[in-house]
Amino acid sequence: MQNTTWDLSVFYQGYDDPAIQKDIQIITETAGNVDALLASGIDETQKLEQVLKAQEDMTNKISNLYSFIQYGLSTDASDAQGLRYLDKMGNLMVDVQMASSKCTRYIGAVEDLDAHIAKSEFLASYAFVLHDAAESAKHSLPEDLEKWVLRLQLDGADAFSKMRDKLMANHTVELDGKSLPLPAVRGMAYDADPAVRKAAYEAELASYKKVEDPMAYCLACIKGDAMTTCEAKNFPDILTQQLTETHMDKETLDAMWTAIVEALPDFRRYMKAKAKVLGHQNGLPFYDLFAPVGDANLTYTIDEAHALLVKVFTEVHPELGAFIDHAFENRWIDVYPKEGKSGGAFCGGSYELDQSRILTNFVGSFSDVSTLAHELGHAWHNRCLQRVPLLRSDAPMPLAETASIFNETLLNQTIRKTADAETKFALLESSLMESTQTVVDIYSRFLFESAVFEARKSHIPTADELNEMMLDAQDKAYGDGLDPDVRHGSMWVNKSHYYNVGLHFYNFPYAFGLLFGLGVYAKYQAEGSSFMTKYDALLASCGSDKIPEVAASVGIDVRSADYWRSALDVIRAEVDEFEKLCEKR
Ligand SMILES: [Zn+2]
Repeated sequence: MQNTTWDLSVFYQGYDDPAIQKDIQIITETAGNVDALLASGIDETQKLEQVLKAQEDMTNKISNLYSFIQYGLSTDASDAQGLRYLDKMGNLMVDVQMASSKCTRYIGAVEDLDAHIAKSEFLASYAFVLHDAAESAKHSLPEDLEKWVLRLQLDGADAFSKMRDKLMANHTVELDGKSLPLPAVRGMAYDADPAVRKAAYEAELASYKKVEDPMAYCLACIKGDAMTTCEAKNFPDILTQQLTETHMDKETLDAMWTAIVEALPDFRRYMKAKAKVLGHQNGLPFYDLFAPVGDANLTYTIDEAHALLVKVFTEVHPELGAFIDHAFENRWIDVYPKEGKSGGAFCGGSYELDQSRILTNFVGSFSDVSTLAHELGHAWHNRCLQRVPLLRSDAPMPLAETASIFNETLLNQTIRKTADAETKFALLESSLMESTQTVVDIYSRFLFESAVFEARKSHIPTADELNEMMLDAQDKAYGDGLDPDVRHGSMWVNKSHYYNVGLHFYNFPYAFGLLFGLGVYAKYQAEGSSFMTKYDALLASCGSDKIPEVAASVGIDVRSADYWRSALDVIRAEVDEFEKLCEKR
């Protein structure tokens, strides 16, 4: 790998690049012309085509501008120009949203939509998008109110969300006489020394006292705003709204939760076995959920990670292997941590440019390599979505993790096959630790968020109430797997997902993503490399139909609890193996 920082010049040369102003102008003009287009007397089929073309133009430019601004900020959080442009885009998006809502209302009012679709190849390629828009039209805000609602939101829920980001970005934890940034202290949960993990957990909990009151207001006001907007949009409740907007249904969600609740005792077996290994009698204390067990000692340089990933994926899917190599060699990846760079990892892409960008904070552990595999899965997903027209290239959240989970699973399984006993034990445990988070903790977050919406119907819940709700949710999800006296009532302060203005219940998609990805991996195991053609087609179709229909294309029935049970069987088998290995130790 020649260069370990990413190249953003494919978007723009810098903030003084005239192309930025030009693209902003295209967005402004396209949004501004929507009224005239809708009022014009042209043939209705043609008008529908032009409405979709206007949406395509805006989507491409908005995506490139946000990519440039947000990726830039993610490696330099305090870049003043980036922050200024982010605000500028926020204001511009009010006009875009209004123009887009006008188009949606118009599509909803077109009589005999199918007759127009039959007359035009272009419209036929967007049949799903048009039907979806006609459905959403029933849930648009009243036109005369929309502008004011959106503008008030900038000073309401949106401002509360920004305040939350600010409070958390500046949050420090007092530990050993030092003031430490929160991510550094949370990172100590993975430390090999039990005393460090415990002290970090206690210091973290104590630190939340100074922010929990403003954070409780942020949470309550964002959720209150969501409930009012939901009512104005004619949805019966937020969950129904989120399911509709992610092309999912209640039947699918209920089938998944049914199988998950049945599997909770299995996850608790794992936690109790891990607790014993660490010398606890009463279940795992929260601070040991992420404790390392076993001695894996796998470390990689970025070049070793590059070679390993290309090798593992080329064996299964040569095109994917070559694609991964291309990403490493062409500055798609920003590899190392540095000051001012955001933590964690993400992948984003540009449809117009057919390129993705990946941010990681690589320090050389196996988990870092696994993260790279995960994000490269997202990039491959973006590549496959190039096969469909732009407005169908947006995979809904529950399906967005399919390729990333597939990659992680394939890497983990491949390494485990040839590893020595100690490494195998550590990798098995880390796989179980992650699935416990993605299934059990996610279930607790779903229960918590449901409780918050319920309470918010009558009042603004206080920090104490929120702490109680969180403890209760953890009790229901973790049960006796977690030490009842050492839980984490302040997780609602920590997790940013609860404070997202437009997305709520941003939790069930993770559990869905993991268990769906495992199901897809099981199909690959059954059918071998010949499955990969179907796999790519599945990835390409994620934004082209409702989720149960997309899943059915590879023979998965997500409305049946049996499907979810079979995906959870993979994890159950890992728990069995883990228990056996623990007994031997
Ligand atoms: Zn992901």
